[in-house]
Amino acid sequence: MPKTDATHDPKRRSWVDSANGHPEFPIQNLPLGVFVPPGGGAPRGGVAIGDFILDLAAAHAAGLFRGEAAAAAEAASGPALNDLFALGAAPRAALRARLSELLALDSAERARVEPCLHRAEDCTMQLPARIGDYTDFYAGIHHATNTGRQFRPDNPLLPNYKYVPIAYHGRSSSVVPSGTPVRRPNGQRKPGRETTPSFGPSRNLDYELELGIWMGPGNALGTPIPISEAGERIAGFCLLNDWSARDIQGWEYQPLGPFLGKNFCTTISPWVITPEALAPFRVAQPPRAEDDPAPMDYLLDAADQREGALDLELEVLLITPGLREKGLPPHRLALSNARHLYWTPAQLVAHHACGGCNLQPGDLFGSGTISGPEESSFGSLLETTQGGRKPLQLASGETRRFLEDGDEVILRAHARREGYASIGFGECRGTVQPAP
Ligand code: CA
Repeated sequence: MPKTDATHDPKRRSWVDSANGHPEFPIQNLPLGVFVPPGGGAPRGGVAIGDFILDLAAAHAAGLFRGEAAAAAEAASGPALNDLFALGAAPRAALRARLSELLALDSAERARVEPCLHRAEDCTMQLPARIGDYTDFYAGIHHATNTGRQFRPDNPLLPNYKYVPIAYHGRSSSVVPSGTPVRRPNGQRKPGRETTPSFGPSRNLDYELELGIWMGPGNALGTPIPISEAGERIAGFCLLNDWSARDIQGWEYQPLGPFLGKNFCTTISPWVITPEALAPFRVAQPPRAEDDPAPMDYLLDAADQREGALDLELEVLLITPGLREKGLPPHRLALSNARHLYWTPAQLVAHHACGGCNLQPGDLFGSGTISGPEESSFGSLLETTQGGRKPLQLASGETRRFLEDGDEVILRAHARREGYASIGFGECRGTVQPAP
């Protein structure tokens, strides 16, 4: 597990003024992403610092890196970060250490770094990596219980839940960066009151609040990843909105699981928050209820249980056409925390590979919807409105069972801890467009 070092010093300030006290990207964060510079050009790797993006290819060409940091900067210079993810923790940490030095207030190299900065608002963010495979887990136990209760009131959690990190293989081609419009899908719907299904736009379009997990160095086919090594295979984290058409999902999901109800669009935040940046916000995996089975040996590691979970505040906001028209603030749909996951990120990695499935740099996991125990922390409308039976009342006078065309959903995440600089993930946004 990465340790805290000088790069986490809350007193460290940057000569990039906007970084100091920045709610998302102070010098203690330094997340990685891929951007198109102002005026166009080839997409390339960059680092967010305050309201700016540092061009890694330009900084590397200026000779600002040496050794492992140079190898990492070079790997991050192209249109995708897969090569950087493949290098693993040490080069990534070396790059972080050098960036922290270059951007610090007392940097001797400010004059050489400054030409490599672009205003973030003039750049376009892209997906940070070529996503080979995308897997969506179901590790939020409150979400699994709330959802299960709607379908099976007497037996909300299926018996495998506390033994197996449940997941399905998702669709990588429809993962899009924040800001990309979300087209309402057409599909087969069959509400309970109707005897036959019909085809048309989903009437129950929903969001899901999830943590995205980027894979670093993978494993060869047939070679599992031991739980003790699983954490260091993770290259970073992002926010993930697993848009879900509940009516399509409800009709199709048995017996083989989600398909068209889930594969039309998944939005992620474009910045990869590194395990190094999150080192101060590691916490113990919350203890299981007394009656719960202990994780099996291949999922159990003392260090992972001690510090493998993340204390990360997660927020969902909704902006509707009515709220926008009346100049009203966004409606907060939920405030949750990554501590509510039943499995650690390392357990998801170890489980995914335990049968020999090969993971590759740039593969993406969704954690599953992260709901907390209270209604104000539910991570989907399926839970908040009880499947549409209890509509939300908005300050604009509008009501919502599920999402309407023109609605925008914004996910945010912040890590805070006494004695450390707070960092954020940036936003994960998407606006619903009418069905084609
Ligand atoms: Ca999901």
